[in-house]
Amino acid sequence: MSYDVEKPDEQWRAELTPAEYAVLRQAATEPAFRGEYTDTKTKGVYSCRACGAELFTSTTKFESHCGWPSFYDPKDTDAVELVEDRTHGMVRTEARCARCGSHLGHVFEGEGYATPTDQRYCINSISLRLTEDES
Ligand SMILES: [Zn+2]
Repeated sequence: MSYDVEKPDEQWRAELTPAEYAVLRQAATEPAFRGEYTDTKTKGVYSCRACGAELFTSTTKFESHCGWPSFYDPKDTDAVELVEDRTHGMVRTEARCARCGSHLGHVFEGEGYATPTDQRYCINSISLRLTEDES
């Protein structure tokens, strides 16, 4: 798998904080209800904190009460890459930034949320950076 943005590991380490690196590059998960965007309702665009690609918008963010920012659809379908994840004894769908391959979170389906897609992109706040819409 190759990505448009590829950097040696030591460069990612230098550019990201240790907490950002652990999630984006090592697929760690931030603690529930601690991320800065969990309850954010600000209108704007959420970009990849590693490479700046635009990934989600506030219009598809919804209150899932799961402890992480949740979206029912990416900004563009091919902005987010979905990868089967068999770690931790589960089969899950990992969401990665399609431009740089950084870990964003996981996608869950069929949970019964009242959203148009019945999907929940459960994304770590620390993988994202919100740019507020200019009003
Ligand atoms: Zn990225």
